[in-house]
Amino acid sequence: MTLFNEIDPDDAPGATRPPETENWRRAETDGLLTLWLDCPGTSTNTISETVLRELDVLLDDAKQAQPRGVALRSAKRGGFAAGADIDGFADLRGQGATEMLQQGHDVLDKLAALPVPTIAVIHGATLGGGLELALACDYRIGVEGVKVGFPEIQLGLHPGLGGTVRLTQLIDPVEAMQMMLTGRSAHDRKARRLGILDALVPERHVEAAMDAAANGKLSHDGGGLRASALRTRAARSLAANRMRAEAEKTAPNAHFPAPFALIELWERHGGDPSAMQQAEVRSFCDLLDSATAQNLIRVFFLRRRLKSGATGPDGIDHVHVIGAGAMGAEIAAWAAIQGRRVTIEDVALAPLGETVRRATEICGKRHLGGIETRDALDRLMPDPDRLGRARADLIIEAAPEKMEVKEKIYGELADQMKPGAILATNTSSLPLSSLVTAAPVPGHFAGLHFFNPVSKMPLVEVVSHDLASADTLDRLARFANGIDRLPARVKDYPGFLVNRVLAPYMMEALAMLDEGHDKEALDRAALAFGMPMGPVTLADSVGLDICLEVALSLREGLDVPVAETPGWLQDMVDKGHTGRKAGRGLYDYETEKPPKVPADDPDQNVIDRLILPMCNAAVECLRKGIAEDADTVDGALIFGTGWAPFRGGPLHYARVRRDVPDVLTKLAAQHGPRFAPDPGWDDFG
Ligand code: NAD
Repeated sequence: MTLFNEIDPDDAPGATRPPETENWRRAETDGLLTLWLDCPGTSTNTISETVLRELDVLLDDAKQAQPRGVALRSAKRGGFAAGADIDGFADLRGQGATEMLQQGHDVLDKLAALPVPTIAVIHGATLGGGLELALACDYRIGVEGVKVGFPEIQLGLHPGLGGTVRLTQLIDPVEAMQMMLTGRSAHDRKARRLGILDALVPERHVEAAMDAAANGKLSHDGGGLRASALRTRAARSLAANRMRAEAEKTAPNAHFPAPFALIELWERHGGDPSAMQQAEVRSFCDLLDSATAQNLIRVFFLRRRLKSGATGPDGIDHVHVIGAGAMGAEIAAWAAIQGRRVTIEDVALAPLGETVRRATEICGKRHLGGIETRDALDRLMPDPDRLGRARADLIIEAAPEKMEVKEKIYGELADQMKPGAILATNTSSLPLSSLVTAAPVPGHFAGLHFFNPVSKMPLVEVVSHDLASADTLDRLARFANGIDRLPARVKDYPGFLVNRVLAPYMMEALAMLDEGHDKEALDRAALAFGMPMGPVTLADSVGLDICLEVALSLREGLDVPVAETPGWLQDMVDKGHTGRKAGRGLYDYETEKPPKVPADDPDQNVIDRLILPMCNAAVECLRKGIAEDADTVDGALIFGTGWAPFRGGPLHYARVRRDVPDVLTKLAAQHGPRFAPDPGWDDFG
């Protein structure tokens, strides 16, 4: 992938900011007008109402001046535009949203109708509203490394500025729909192959390509045979039904209306662009009003919030990881891929080789190019001689979950770590208040709790304890953010925040199995609620041995009642039936497959028993100050466990539902004091 680093608007001769324009600069060379998008005060362009209003005026000027062609470019290094300005429409509803969207459509229609060739020169991230702007041009020239896509579906929406119409008209409509339904981006060559780009060039050839476009010498590939075949409604209906069946598997209509609205839009209006455009506005505004979109937009802001509290340099160039097991290997690989120099040690040699293999695999899954993969692997150094211990700015200990093992390692580190270096532990369950007694410098010691698998789970808990210095915690949070993970600052507590809240989900399921509930019914009810994995499957994935340990540590560490674990669980563990890793646990993986399809008509009592204890634990954590506020709790659960994002998190769900303490009181009467509402509900608004 080419890193885009050549763009600088000041290189464009005569690029000036037209009067009363904040977001655009204008330059004219050889009769070709270039409008440079350059949103002030940020490194990333977004398409806001102001950007479009200003463009409207510039297009009027261009229509008058009749240049040889009009090109749109971005003055930001990172890309053309990251999408619509979500702050601008998050609070919009009803008529206000419709009017704003309609005005946006008018501007893009004006661009599309300009009587001179219009050319979008796009580089880097060109997403959502940015891609819609580019699609309204006659030609799209991609600079190598460009990435185009419509991620709106992740917000419970679909494109709303004509994108649904223009993309399905431009390329094979089935490919276009796939892109919009999955939210997946197309990288440079793929975008060219699909026909979204009319040319793909290195930066040095952009001007020649612009010239060719202005002279009408670039040709479109069109949507091919399938586009013509899908002009009839009957053909579209066939394809649409297949898409619906596919969407139902991953995102059931009940929770995610956007894919179905998009399919309907194309099925009904795909043969009539202007009807589709009008229907797109209506459909987008309906979706915007839905609870799903509002909650997913909330998740977008939660992500930003977790990041925004952790910006700036962390002073960590070299990371040393101790223990190359399931966690250490991924942490090391991930940090190296994200640009850090990493050494990793283990008592055995084989895990070090496995770490390199794992890193290569992650690079492949993330579509990194050959050079980037080579550079990442160069930065990742197996270190059997433990030389990194003395050189690292940060040591991450990911050794087995045994107090004596960790204490012994900390004891050795006392004479080895360089001054000012931080020691972080990835422990899931050992109290930091105990571990810190063995740490070389208590102020420079804290928890950095990654989730499994690190390359997929965005959250990292930055765990404090009484002796940790503020600077250490700040640097760790910035480090987590710097390696593209989301830091949640939490306090030392049994299970910290995320596992404390999640554990009752599995423990209650075990108690229900003991009462004779059907395991598949429990899993399918939880899936119907929107959890990414049922509690029985989750217990098997975590490992039944670990579940027992977690239950024990919660029972010992918490001052509230915790569900008893059934006696047969210990028997299963003793027999080695510890879950997925053993091929057998609550499910027998040789003969059974855990269900993936949500229940059609789930039992609300089952859902309440599984979900409300999590809300209760979340309120307990809030009351005890384990996380700073409700947003951190919700964000951590969503990004750490995949907790039903379209419900906005356990506390948001409880706030909207309102009757949670009452239902908990009833459940406590039926099933015991573990359901008793936490005192924190009294202050929970
Ligand atoms: P693991 O058993 O897969 O790996 C531990 C590795 O440490 C092994 O490769 C082992 O050879 C090595 N090791 C043992 N003693 C060592 C020593 N003295 N020095 C250096 N290396 C040594 O364990 P894991 O699942 O990767 O867990 C590591 C830590 O991460 C634990 O504290 C665990 O609680 C925590 N954690 C685990 C998960 C998870 O899902 N597995 C999730 C979050 C946190």
